[in-house]
Amino acid sequence: MSDTCLFCKIARRELDAAVVYEDDDVLAFKDIQPQAPVHVLIIPRRHLATLNDLRPDHGDLIVKLVLAATKIARDQGVADDGYRLVWNCQEGAGQSVFHVHLHLLGGRRLNWPPG
Ligand code: 5GP
Ligand code: ZN
Repeated sequence: MSDTCLFCKIARRELDAAVVYEDDDVLAFKDIQPQAPVHVLIIPRRHLATLNDLRPDHGDLIVKLVLAATKIARDQGVADDGYRLVWNCQEGAGQSVFHVHLHLLGGRRLNWPPG
């Protein structure tokens, strides 16, 4: 946990967010600047700055994030048409909030390569 981290504050409910899913380990909320009709951020409650900080003893944390994402994709109605899950790791890949988060994007045609 970090006192200053934006997503830790959202996880502690000190900051408002449009939450679409939560359980003991995971919180998911709508991105404030959506890049697609469906754009949800799925985060672990525990603070990890980047994917580089992931260790084997974090167990099935990443699996839990992905399983939450697939459930949200179904709930949001994009599971059949298609969606994309994205992890930006470090600034060079576009990471701007340094608390691990999985982007779920859907509801429109998504081009490849993403750029
Ligand atoms: P990154 O660029 O680090 O991969 O993704 C960070 C995402 O967090 C961006 O898509 C940005 O729009 C979103 N974001 C930044 N601040 C807030 C906030 O205060 N609330 C919500 N819901 N999303 C945020
Ligand atoms: Zn954090």
